[in-house]
Amino acid sequence: MRPFIFIFMSYKVFKFGGSSIKDISRIKNLCAILKNCKGEKIVVVISAMGKMTNALEAVFSHYVKDREGGLDALDKVVDEHMEIVKALELEEAVIERKLQSFIFDNLSMLETEKNKELIYDQIISLGELFSTTIIKAYLEKMELSASWMDVRNVILTDDTFRDGKVEMSITKNKISKKVNSYFKKSDFIITQGFIGKTDKGFTTTLGREGSDYTAAIFAYALDIEELTIWKDVPGILTADPRRFDNPILLDKISYREAIEMTYYGAKVIHPKTIQPIQNKNIRLQVRSFLDTEKTGTLIADPGGLTYPPIVVIQEGVILLQITSNDFSFVTTEHLSVIFSKMNQFRTKLCLMRNSAISFTLCINEVEDKQLDAFMKALGQGFSIEVHKELELITIRHYQQSLVDKLTTDKLVMFEETLKDTIQMAVKSIETLKEKKEI
Ligand code: ADP
Ligand code: ASP
Ligand code: MG
Repeated sequence: MRPFIFIFMSYKVFKFGGSSIKDISRIKNLCAILKNCKGEKIVVVISAMGKMTNALEAVFSHYVKDREGGLDALDKVVDEHMEIVKALELEEAVIERKLQSFIFDNLSMLETEKNKELIYDQIISLGELFSTTIIKAYLEKMELSASWMDVRNVILTDDTFRDGKVEMSITKNKISKKVNSYFKKSDFIITQGFIGKTDKGFTTTLGREGSDYTAAIFAYALDIEELTIWKDVPGILTADPRRFDNPILLDKISYREAIEMTYYGAKVIHPKTIQPIQNKNIRLQVRSFLDTEKTGTLIADPGGLTYPPIVVIQEGVILLQITSNDFSFVTTEHLSVIFSKMNQFRTKLCLMRNSAISFTLCINEVEDKQLDAFMKALGQGFSIEVHKELELITIRHYQQSLVDKLTTDKLVMFEETLKDTIQMAVKSIETLKEKKEI
């Protein structure tokens, strides 16, 4: 009897962000990368093109003040996409009809809608729907076997618009069912990062830059061994190359290192990406779509790693110093008011320290009216000092010489050290624009 041969093909998940599809040469490059993977089954999670999400945020701001003006601004965004469609020599009428149908589906019921956060998500999500439609059409033209999948049919979220919380177990089941059925008819599944859907059928977004997180959700749901995120940098570096001249490429880093770096503002991957992959020990490879020979950075749990100093800088941080006027203590009751307000305003707490009569904290930017609400909620008897537009410098595995170098022309307003990590909220004496060596 002939032996029964069971061929198991494991799936892969790739993620391409805005910079990897910002123009036609980059789209062609993406296609070349996929061509090299012919015969494999890959879910390809894609963001909006270039800076289209920012353009859609501008459309939203316009729309909520003046609906017609907003729709005109949206037409311009469609035109920009159609220029790319034309340059790629795709079927313009067919694609334009599809883009318009996304607009109709998302916006037609908004005329009387009052919830601005809901409106935001219906507009902002269009970027990913547009980009994936164009890329799928291009891959097809290049004779790659690709299906387009509406990610909203598999990623279920709650109704926290702008920051949808994913219902993981339902999402996991939906993903494995749908993906298996799509892979029966094609090698590549092209789908959207960053967006999901509520059980009432409204589109949600998962937080700016959230496409990396979507890719991690797919990797988790499909139980794959490795996720690849393609970037315009060689991998994870010891600092942002846009700000520093000679950062070093980190070949391997642990999940812990990656989550700490990204939480404090290393914009290379979204901080939410790490948790789902860590839970299943899925390796994450961050590599360059511009130099495909190199493998980049592996994020896993290899153990025994040592690191050079890693610098992360987050801009637009606010320092609040809350002090009681009559020397009464700052109690846990006051702290709970502060934390619940922060939760309500969805602002992130970066650093904090309390003393008998004061509480100092660093948070991500909030509006002035929200600061006023903090004060009102605290009640009489407290004064608040606000320092805006600070930078939060985090140096992991720090050396004092580097701390001195990075703070020479800065005023350090607040400093915390924990083990080998130092964090400083600093104000530029003269805003540092030129690059420094690290
Ligand atoms: P995407 O195309 O997926 O949206 P992003 O532009 O969001 O990609 O992320 C890549 C960028 O992250 C790089 O161009 C780089 O400037 C920035 N970055 C910030 N910190 C780091 C770091 N430590 N290592 C590598 N890149 C970093
Ligand atoms: N397009 C979205 C954004 O710019 C999501 C992403 O790119 O990850 O925030
Ligand atoms: Mg991005």
